[in-house]
Amino acid sequence: MKKDDCIFCKIASGEIPSTTIYEDDYNKVFFDINPASKGHCLIVPKEHYDNIYDLDEEAAGRLFGLATKVANGLKKELDLEGLNILQNNGEIAGQTVYHIHLHLIPRYAGDTVNIGLKPGEADVEELKTLADKITLE
Ligand code: 5GP
Ligand code: ZN
Repeated sequence: MKKDDCIFCKIASGEIPSTTIYEDDYNKVFFDINPASKGHCLIVPKEHYDNIYDLDEEAAGRLFGLATKVANGLKKELDLEGLNILQNNGEIAGQTVYHIHLHLIPRYAGDTVNIGLKPGEADVEELKTLADKITLE
């Protein structure tokens, strides 16, 4: 379903222009308007899903499947040395547009991209307890 007040629904339908790399019946790939690096693009389903929690498995398969193709397309054309794939869910995680999207962010030596994870320390017993508690439907 399309959501009236959603900017990515509007980009997906062509109502708002974007610099499009690829599109099919299900997804659109376009450059991020504020790129973190050269080639930073977004893969967006044409159907509206707020984030990972309401994405169904088929749509997820198509979205992540397409990411492999886009990654290779970027790698072939750009002189990238690495690539981050980022998908934010919720404000605290940095989500600003509430229509699910994957960021593909090419990485270059000396770039200013910052996706730093600070390693913590694990209590293995705590991890085991938690692993037993987490259920998948
Ligand atoms: P989020 O923070 O939700 O993970 O990512 C949203 C991304 O969408 C940001 O990187 C932002 O630059 C990009 N963005 C927001 N509005 C537009 C737009 O109108 N056009 C394009 N091409 N990108 C947008
Ligand atoms: Zn939307």
